[in-house]
Amino acid sequence: MPTEDQVLQALRQVIDPDLHRDIVTLGFVKDVAICEGAVKITLELTTPACPVKDRLKEEAEQAIRSIPGVDQVNVKMDAQVRPTLAQMGSMMIPGVRNVVPIGSGKGGVGKSTVSANIAVALAQTGARVGLMDADVYGPSIPTIMGITDAPKPGEKGIIPIEAYGVKVISMGFFLKPDQAVVWRGPMLTKMIDQFLGGVEWGEIDYLIVDLPPGTGDIHLSLCQRIPLSGAAIVSTPQDVALQVAQKAVIMFNQLKTPILGLIENMSYFVCPHCGQRENIFDTGGARRAAGRMNLPFLGEIPLATRLRETSDSGRPIVVSDPKSPAAVAFQQIARALAAQVSIRNAEETAAEPVKITF
Ligand code: ADP
Repeated sequence: MPTEDQVLQALRQVIDPDLHRDIVTLGFVKDVAICEGAVKITLELTTPACPVKDRLKEEAEQAIRSIPGVDQVNVKMDAQVRPTLAQMGSMMIPGVRNVVPIGSGKGGVGKSTVSANIAVALAQTGARVGLMDADVYGPSIPTIMGITDAPKPGEKGIIPIEAYGVKVISMGFFLKPDQAVVWRGPMLTKMIDQFLGGVEWGEIDYLIVDLPPGTGDIHLSLCQRIPLSGAAIVSTPQDVALQVAQKAVIMFNQLKTPILGLIENMSYFVCPHCGQRENIFDTGGARRAAGRMNLPFLGEIPLATRLRETSDSGRPIVVSDPKSPAAVAFQQIARALAAQVSIRNAEETAAEPVKITF
């Protein structure tokens, strides 16, 4: 009969390609059960949106099968999203593990569309997700997420509205359609405080924050008030857009917020009639810019009429047309983003003594 030591020894050969350590050292292996030649384990990953989930499962199965005497293998997959170290002590939003702002150098590049679809795509993997619309000047998240109700007060704060498995809060819930926000910095800071500490977020793995375009008071307030896991930046591919995106990168660097990566939106257009690809705003610019700045590139989203239509009608494309190229791009970007959060958190804990529990 194989022993637990043999099983763990075999699993030490399985290396997480993102975290560059073996799955035993990373503490992923749980509940090892051996009965005659049957071995059962649970692999607890750091995110349900892990892009290499299937590969790790397969490699773990193979590793166990190679032990003499093993004739049955059962690898169960599970996930527990770990918090950013600094967030562990945060009193403001105690149940929120990772706060991930999405920014852009300028408006109109599709930042809100990207934020909403990433949030829903993460929730579709089984993660607990919140979406905070901090774009006070043009709060479009309620429209994209199809929310028309106003949130109600709960015992400890405002109860966010749930749509497509995501808990949402937006300034748009509190404004009349013809009303605009004309506030100075201190009021904007108050709003950020209210959206963080004054909302009953509950347990959240990823709180996606749709920032206003540019680099202003809200960015400053958010970065200074709570520990952020890291920001993602959306840009269209042309040079002018990338130049302003670069300013957002510089701002986050100055505020000591890590950058999780760049996302290229409106990357190319495929003609629905003849199938020809047209690079309207050029293509690959964000990928090249990410390379130059030594930042991860998280993926590219095509320019698609259907994407605009689904956003306008309140049914994000990852829900209404999940197999379309744009939806598949969002699912892949959501997984890449979750992987970057896991990498950051693992790098943080690597500085701490590694704790292995069985
Ligand atoms: P931002 O938040 O950067 O101001 P939005 O997400 O509000 O941008 O997008 C601006 C407009 O562009 C919206 O009408 C949206 O539906 C549309 N849009 C965004 N991304 C795409 C895309 N990839 N293809 C087609 N339309 C898009």
